[in-house]
Amino acid sequence: MQLQFLGTGAGQPAKGRNVSSLVLKLLDEINEIWMFDCGEGTQRQILETSIKPRKVSKIFITHLHGDHVLGLPGFLSSRAFQSSEEQTDIDIYGPKGIRSFVLSSLKVTGSRLPYRIHFHEFDRQSLGKLMETDKFEVYAEELDHSIFCVGYRVVQKDLEGTLNAEALKAAGLPFGPLFGKVKNGQDVTLEDGTLIVAKDYISEPKKGKVVTILGDTRQTHASVRLALGANILVHESTYGKGDEKIAKSHGHSTNMQAAQVAKEASAKRLLLNHISPRFLTRDCRQLERDAAKVFENVKVVYDLDEVEV
Ligand code: ZN
Repeated sequence: MQLQFLGTGAGQPAKGRNVSSLVLKLLDEINEIWMFDCGEGTQRQILETSIKPRKVSKIFITHLHGDHVLGLPGFLSSRAFQSSEEQTDIDIYGPKGIRSFVLSSLKVTGSRLPYRIHFHEFDRQSLGKLMETDKFEVYAEELDHSIFCVGYRVVQKDLEGTLNAEALKAAGLPFGPLFGKVKNGQDVTLEDGTLIVAKDYISEPKKGKVVTILGDTRQTHASVRLALGANILVHESTYGKGDEKIAKSHGHSTNMQAAQVAKEASAKRLLLNHISPRFLTRDCRQLERDAAKVFENVKVVYDLDEVEV
């Protein structure tokens, strides 16, 4: 699975950075792409990538500020134009209000979609586990921003060990029900008395990945909980070292606070986004250097960056 950043800027589009959106590509796992936030211009950013909009099956919105949602009506409408392709439904998760925003935008603009949108609105009382499939779980918890805003924790379930069929065949086990027995962990004795020990032929289960994607927030324990042991934590860094006071008053974080969260959560990797347009490339390097003193594996991401989870 990969994360690709479509917009990494804060507040308004800038020359080098569009407003918030990123995707979690789960093509190898479930042949789907999940989007997190959809700022204005997200569909144009997608044109610069290999992402097929119809593969976007779920959209998770962190909060209703314009720089995180204004791209939705456009993206949803364009997704409808792929008429030669199969039209697949889409799920939208977000704070109460997202449904009326999307539906009224589509209605006023006379947009008709050839697929269905399933809305999953939540408020403070209905957070926690938002969804579960056989392979993934998604949790949300409230953060600390100027309006209701959440962070998401995407948990891939552990992958079962796989059966080494070639080795079993080589050991003399005939294809058939005995294979199934070994697969279920049962030892089997062959006619010639050879004992086949099941665990020798099944690989170790693989730990699922955890990706934590936060919306805008002040430094908060909720972020630490969401990011516990995460393979990747995506955290905003609207401000830099020394600006803690102003960050707090505007409902945002600094790079140092993001690094502190990553450290407390024992996350493996920290990616900083929601970068103020006043930070130039050399400033971003400084953001990284400063943050690395608290949490070493940190990087400021740029639009269109793709990161293997
Ligand atoms: Zn915001």
